[in-house]
Amino acid sequence: MIIPDFDHSSSRKILNWMCLGNLTVQEYRTMNIYVIVGTCNYYFHSLMSERSILSLPHDETRVLLHSCCAPCAGDILETLVASKIEVTLFFYNPNIHPRHEYDIRKEENKRFAEQLQIPFVDADYDMENWFLRTKGLEFDPERGQRCAICFDMRFERTALYAYEQGFKVFSSTVGVSRWKDMEQVNESGLQAASRYPGLTYWTYNWRKGGGSQRMVEIAKHAHFYQQEYCGCAHSLREINQKRQRAGRDRVKIGVKYY
Ligand code: SF4
Repeated sequence: MIIPDFDHSSSRKILNWMCLGNLTVQEYRTMNIYVIVGTCNYYFHSLMSERSILSLPHDETRVLLHSCCAPCAGDILETLVASKIEVTLFFYNPNIHPRHEYDIRKEENKRFAEQLQIPFVDADYDMENWFLRTKGLEFDPERGQRCAICFDMRFERTALYAYEQGFKVFSSTVGVSRWKDMEQVNESGLQAASRYPGLTYWTYNWRKGGGSQRMVEIAKHAHFYQQEYCGCAHSLREINQKRQRAGRDRVKIGVKYY
């Protein structure tokens, strides 16, 4: 690999590739460019230190965080802990299919919460209700109406629990993924919060300030399970169809780890 006019901005590009998983440190080593790896590591540490210290809306001190999976929750939880915000994790994702995939995602999330000594609430897997609620939208594209209903269902349940348990603020890890429409996620959250007096949905943009990059780095460091589709049976069907067109194997549940 030849990098003309190698400078700091070139190392930033390489780091971005590494964070996106297109190249790994090992691959760099086989390419004999150790000096670039060193520079990237230096830059990575400066990225890690960019994590902001956050405050909750209305100067609240605790938040209920709906979580979809460990990789999405990684940086958010670490940032909240570093900000000395009291966080409780709420796992309610009846969209995830099949059950085996659901159990893996939940257990990974639970394990990470335990490591950080964060309370973990395991809510119901009422997947029959999820299928009922999204009936007729089986072939909607991702980011369409089915996803709006999927967020609504998960956030309504989170908002109810928040209200019952006296939380004034709740949020979700769902928006950290670049595959999601942040506006759609926020709209659902705000709507769910509006059902209860005094409850606020925190629309913080978890992707900014290096959040997306740290999310991947933490997932690699913790060897989290790497899910290969959004979660529901329909997103699994879509990804398998795409793979089939590209001549690739179908998704194998429980196999791929960061
Ligand atoms: S694609 Fe993802 S967000 Fe959309 S309905 Fe399926 S699980 Fe929910």
